[in-house]
Amino acid sequence: MLERLGERWRPQHWRRRLLWSALTALVLALLLTLVWLAGRYEASQVQSRLERDAADAVGDIRSRLTRNLQSLQALQFGEPGPARWSQEATALLRERRELVRIEWRDDHFNVLNQAGTPYRPPVFDRLGRDSVQSEVTQVCNAARRLSGPAYSGSYFVPMTDGLGLEVMEMCLPLASAGVVMGYLVATYSLQDLLDDLGPQLTRSQEVSFTEGDGTRLAIRGNSRRGGRVFSAQHLLDLPGTTLVLRMDSWRGAPDLFPNVLTALVTAMSIALVAILLLLGKDMRRRLKAERDLADALAFRKAMEDSLVTGLRARDLQGRITYVNPAFCQMVGFTAEELLGQGVQAPPYWPPELADEYRKRQEIRLAGNVPPREGYESVFMHKDGTRFPVLIIEAPLINAQGVQTGWMSAFLDIREQRRVEELSRASQERLQATARLAMVGEMASLLSHELNQPLAAIASYATGTQNLLDQGAHSPADIRLAMHRIAEQAERAGKVIKSVHDFVRRRDQAREAIAPRLLLDAILPLVNLQARKLGVQVQIRLAPDLPTVLCDRTMVEQVLLNLARNGMQAMDQPEIRRRVLTLEVRRSPADARWIEFSVADIGPGIAPEVAEQLFTPFFTTKAEGMGLGLSLCRTVIEQHGGNLVFESSPPHGTVFRFTLPAGPAA
Ligand code: ADP
Repeated sequence: MLERLGERWRPQHWRRRLLWSALTALVLALLLTLVWLAGRYEASQVQSRLERDAADAVGDIRSRLTRNLQSLQALQFGEPGPARWSQEATALLRERRELVRIEWRDDHFNVLNQAGTPYRPPVFDRLGRDSVQSEVTQVCNAARRLSGPAYSGSYFVPMTDGLGLEVMEMCLPLASAGVVMGYLVATYSLQDLLDDLGPQLTRSQEVSFTEGDGTRLAIRGNSRRGGRVFSAQHLLDLPGTTLVLRMDSWRGAPDLFPNVLTALVTAMSIALVAILLLLGKDMRRRLKAERDLADALAFRKAMEDSLVTGLRARDLQGRITYVNPAFCQMVGFTAEELLGQGVQAPPYWPPELADEYRKRQEIRLAGNVPPREGYESVFMHKDGTRFPVLIIEAPLINAQGVQTGWMSAFLDIREQRRVEELSRASQERLQATARLAMVGEMASLLSHELNQPLAAIASYATGTQNLLDQGAHSPADIRLAMHRIAEQAERAGKVIKSVHDFVRRRDQAREAIAPRLLLDAILPLVNLQARKLGVQVQIRLAPDLPTVLCDRTMVEQVLLNLARNGMQAMDQPEIRRRVLTLEVRRSPADARWIEFSVADIGPGIAPEVAEQLFTPFFTTKAEGMGLGLSLCRTVIEQHGGNLVFESSPPHGTVFRFTLPAGPAA
């Protein structure tokens, strides 16, 4: 059973392990994907925000350029004189930081008037404005072609302070009635164009104008570097040239969880893994409990199967809910035949007793607690044989402490009964044997005792014959002789009857009997032996003794046996005075008991003999059987009393036994 359980358990165990591993791997993969996706989602968010910011910045710059263009056109409004132009141009330069220089040129590109930014030292001081003449010419030609503003590519202008500036020219053709009269050339500082974006930039952003190969022309921002960088590029399309605006943004690199979403997903993942671990641990505990339970179950099953005691459980309606193999074997029915049965008569009740059993069952089901030591009943085997059983019942209490039925244990007491019967029979046989042995012993005494009356009868008969022969026949003499003969015959008859009575009386019933009667019954037999051995028999009866409750025959035999042992012990040449004392009194220890004692003044009992005194067949006599004392003790103990002996001073032994007192005599 155990192995079977174990075998079944093993493959399941492996399958469960496999499932758990697969689940763990899947959950881990899922969680990693989730964290990765969250990270990616977040990166794409950042990227698109950056793209938006870059587009905003480009739009911003474009609108500034357009506004500047309008302001520059306004300079020429109403054909101003040189002085007013200078004044207005200077005001414009003060207002717009990104403009570093404004020139008014004629249609041959000669400078008519010019103004420089008040925020910087003159930009073209170091190189001279003429060095960039070609750029100006180029852009103004382009402007003329476009009939509108045109922008040049940017170029670097080194300055006197050792630094330099990336600048870009813008040329606006001044036309009157379709003929170009001159040009307005404005120089932009790329750096200042970016600087004006300032407030829109966040601290971790950097914005720059770059060339196609990534070289930065002007940079704004750059407060923090390191970590993950996101970039967005946008083109600033201007007539004549195209600028690339690049925006970079740094995310704090050491941040493992760059935003709330990723952190949340990660935290949830960790929680999930923790729960998975806890579940796994719980599962392991459960598995262990399951295994322990299986072990306990197997153990219980093995125990039940090996029991010789029958077990049966019934619910509160009396239906059989469980039987063990021993019970099935006892009654000869299979478990299937028995389960569910029992509300009516179960098949193992003998039909003639079913009514009585049903009443008993009703009493039990009404909630009466059965005797703890059990009770006896008779069951019927499937083949019809009746057999006695000992039933021990107890309420069946479930785990919640509620009674759900009754549990009964059954012992087949057939064998026990047989043994009891055997021992009772052998005990009886032993007693009968002992009695017969004693009778045999008595036969010799009897012959001795009968000799006297028989001799007397013979001599009376001879005397009578002689009288008749002599012819002198006084009827009075002959009647006297006959009377004597009758007397002697009666005496002999009494002797024989006393023995006969003793041997024949077999009724076992206990009766209340006066102690005196017990002694009277044995005295004729005791006296027989006493006379032969020259023993004087003394009787001491306490006054007002109640009756004793006993099996008369048995107790008489005990008394006779003790008296005989006492007399035999005194049968020694050196013992002159031979007295046997039979005494009856209330027990000094307990008045509910009557104490009998038989005392002799023999040699007493040696310690090595005392040890084995009550052992059956122990004897020191050549013709003894050694059964007397062991039977005596059995008889007395069957009456509830006890038999003891002690030495009685100056020498001799006294045997005492007790019997329960009955009603007053
Ligand atoms: P049996 O008389 O057949 O030997 P008992 O069981 O009556 O068997 O006695 C066993 C032995 O106990 C006797 O052989 C004797 O040695 C001893 N015994 C019994 N009663 C006395 C007694 N009153 N005094 C001394 N010895 C005794």
